Amino acid sequence: MGTKGREILEIDAKDLIEKLNKALADEWLAYYQYWVGAKVVEGPLRGAVAAELNEHAGEELKHAEMLTARILQLGGTPLLSPKEWYEKTNCGYEAPENPDVKSILEQNIKGEQCAIIVYKKLAEEVKGKDDITYKMVLEILEDEVEHEDDLENLLKDLKTIK
Ligand code: FE
Ligand code: FE
Ligand code: MG
Repeated sequence: MGTKGREILEIDAKDLIEKLNKALADEWLAYYQYWVGAKVVEGPLRGAVAAELNEHAGEELKHAEMLTARILQLGGTPLLSPKEWYEKTNCGYEAPENPDVKSILEQNIKGEQCAIIVYKKLAEEVKGKDDITYKMVLEILEDEVEHEDDLENLLKDLKTIK
């Protein structure tokens, strides 16, 4: 990162890079959980659910891009190996072993709720100290809130037809 860009940081860059890498691990795991969930999902509304899961997968990938860009800008290195995703994750990974729509929706809602907590906390930590990261975290948080809402609405729809 440029000299002045570093100078305006009022936070320990190394500690921040570690937190952004932990979020990056979450995003890759969330991406895969959505992506594979969309492939295996079974049951009523499966078309609508698969479409939403695919859309969310794309958005989690976008979050991974945003986090990586900021990590590099801060002079850090993004996680280089997938095995680190499991070591660094905040929210973990839930394999969609039960392909039932309801089970997959519930697993992903749980993941979104964890993501919301992680980004809310990160936003509080960087607020007033690193405006660029703060803005990025708010953008991601907005998406995660929307994801949770989308999935909860699908779960509601599912209950009306069962
Ligand atoms: Fe995300
Ligand atoms: Fe999400
Ligand atoms: Mg959506």
